[in-house]
Amino acid sequence: MKPYELDIIHNQMNTIADIDNGSIAEEIGLEAGDQVLAINGKQILDVIDYRYSISNEEILLSIQKKDGELWDIEIEKDVEEDLGINFLSPLLDNQKQCTNNCIFCFIDQMPPGMRDSLYIKDDDSRLSFLQGNYITLTNVKEEDLKRIVEYKLSPINVSVHTTNPELRVKLLKNRFAGEILERISYLTKNRITVNAQIVAIPGINDGAELERTLEDLSNLYPNLSSVAVVPVGITKYRENLPTLNIFTKEEAKNVIDVVCQFSQKMKKMHGFGWVYPSDEFFLIAEEEIPESEFYEGYPQYENGVGLLRSFYDEAIEELENVPGGEEKGSVTLITSEYPSSCLKNLLNLLQKKYPNLNYDLKVITNSFFGNTVKVAGLLTAKDVLEQLKGGTYDGIIVPRVMFRQDKFITLDDMTLKDLEEKLSCPIYTVENNGASFIRKILEVGLNG
Ligand code: SF4
Repeated sequence: MKPYELDIIHNQMNTIADIDNGSIAEEIGLEAGDQVLAINGKQILDVIDYRYSISNEEILLSIQKKDGELWDIEIEKDVEEDLGINFLSPLLDNQKQCTNNCIFCFIDQMPPGMRDSLYIKDDDSRLSFLQGNYITLTNVKEEDLKRIVEYKLSPINVSVHTTNPELRVKLLKNRFAGEILERISYLTKNRITVNAQIVAIPGINDGAELERTLEDLSNLYPNLSSVAVVPVGITKYRENLPTLNIFTKEEAKNVIDVVCQFSQKMKKMHGFGWVYPSDEFFLIAEEEIPESEFYEGYPQYENGVGLLRSFYDEAIEELENVPGGEEKGSVTLITSEYPSSCLKNLLNLLQKKYPNLNYDLKVITNSFFGNTVKVAGLLTAKDVLEQLKGGTYDGIIVPRVMFRQDKFITLDDMTLKDLEEKLSCPIYTVENNGASFIRKILEVGLNG
């Protein structure tokens, strides 16, 4: 047995979980439980290595079948064609854990007793490339950076927070955190696209520090392709953690001013605004959400930049298409504080078209994490149940983001079915999309 075979058999990372229907893997007889030992004679280090190795017209796949038999199979295929193998461990390696101790870490502020997966602090460039996770680049060695470049792992999303080395060391509580500009520059110089995120904390990295960070990062444009500035999230679980404040209305306005002035400057120089405050800043500052042009194709949507604008515009477009009518109906919806005024506006516009459709929008306060947390994605079943207690409902529309992406389970581990039983009514989920929102209300309100 070759050395690589022993390695893999012992760590089981390369075990096949299932095979796609109609794929090459199915055609050659691979099945769940088999192990991929090597490709072209080389051990596979992780999923990136695997993808790189199969991007060839001819490959030699070395397999250990689950009965122990060893197969070497030559495959001819298109370069881009996938083999259709899904592994038990999607990364084909252990996840790299974060080595920071950020003073604003949200995971440190979670209540105890939640499911284990919610406490995982990953900081892995492979997950940044594959899933868009944000990484700090504090745990990467020179060879890791070289590998990102060699395998063209682009784009990479980086949590910068500040480019001031001393301040970054303090914020991340990591003595290796100061070299951020050098590390990002290495990537951008080598044509890796980087999206940056700045978690702003009042009195710490806003104001002049934020201007400095934007100035430094702007020198790396265009490969440093966009920047989101998001406010720090604070829960009620900060015992033994440094004291941090949330943004006041005035402080939020100042961040918007700094960011928008910088974006104007970038527009003049490059025709692209490049940096955006997240929606939360406009809500805290009680300012209008900008028009869609401001978001320039929404490059930082996943960071909460432009969600409300895009939701509202999608809903308005759908509203223009619905015929309107006199049908009677009623609908109950739940939401959190931040999106509530946007939803109220839309519901009032919908009522103009359907005057006999009544709505009851329940705005749920987040007592679970604390009332400073106002986004729908962090609502829990416990708060919903407590705040809807005593009412009778024909059905309730809830935001899909309250549930796990892959399963209908809330953050506090309640299934959609449990929720239906406890509220004695059907629960309908709605995606974070304005057109779906309008369609769901009509579907449930008029026919439910
Ligand atoms: S990088 Fe910082 S914020 Fe992210 S998980 Fe690690 S400690 Fe928490």
